[in-house]
Amino acid sequence: MNIIVMIKQVPDTNQVKIDPKTGTLIREGVPSIINHDDKHALEEGLRLKEKHGGKVTVISMGPPQAKDAIMESMAMGADEGILLSDRAFAGADTYATSYSLAQAIRKIGDYDIILAGRQAVDGDTAQIGPQTAEALGLPQITYVRKVEIIEDGKKVRAERALEDGYEVIEAPLPSLLTCIKELNKPRYPSLKGIKRAVNYEIPVWTAADVAAVPEKIGLKGSPTRVGRTFTPKPPGRGEKLEGTPEELVKAVMNKLNELNILQE
Ligand code: FAD
Repeated sequence: MNIIVMIKQVPDTNQVKIDPKTGTLIREGVPSIINHDDKHALEEGLRLKEKHGGKVTVISMGPPQAKDAIMESMAMGADEGILLSDRAFAGADTYATSYSLAQAIRKIGDYDIILAGRQAVDGDTAQIGPQTAEALGLPQITYVRKVEIIEDGKKVRAERALEDGYEVIEAPLPSLLTCIKELNKPRYPSLKGIKRAVNYEIPVWTAADVAAVPEKIGLKGSPTRVGRTFTPKPPGRGEKLEGTPEELVKAVMNKLNELNILQE
């Protein structure tokens, strides 16, 4: 079974700071990590390989430093990794990103299942998985919390999380699944994996390598227009009132009247 896992390198959001003047992310000095949901996707890919045989290929689109995320995936057990990187991809919104990733997956060619994270912690749109499935004309199952390969590898059965429960969905393979943290507990890199990752030459594919149409990639291929970005004002600190219950009720009523919140 050939498994493709889509991984994104993201800033470690516990440490992200916003530039108060420009309202943009300060990326300098912020460590990068593999997006959390993607580690769960990778872990599931490794488990499927262990159960059914085959190989796991990770793919990421990003700047050259995204190689670190691929190396970490290889250290966890992925067999192959591909970086999609080209200046021509710069400025890509989710539409152009998923088209570019779909082109790379077409080039890989021989696959049975594609696993992605549900959502990236920086872009946060949860669009790439579904849009890549659309671009490839594949069935998709989102919010996956359990995966089972059935009917001799012809179909996948997945539990899809809902707000108040879950639903069971079956789809023919190949399909694309987006994974959530409830799916599994990602393993740590092994010593053997680290040794292999260090010696692995990560192939870097350009736009030309994946036969991407120039008008469909990067800024040119991105229909999204960002009007404005801003940091919402933090809520006020609040006011602590003290006194007897009667005094407190009176003080609260006075405040509400002052603010014109209470009307006769
Ligand atoms: P989500 O849709 O939330 O991610 C879901 C899952 O899809 C992930 O868990 C992962 O499995 C997979 N996935 C997501 N992104 C990738 C990836 N790159 N490679 C492999 N798998 C992935 N970003 C830049 O880095 N450089 C730019 O110049 C740039 N310009 C932009 C311009 C505009 C106008 C806009 C709107 C966005 C731009 N972005 C840029 C952001 C970039 O488009 C998004 O980060 C990217 O499309 C992924 O969207 P997301 O983060 O919401 O991922």
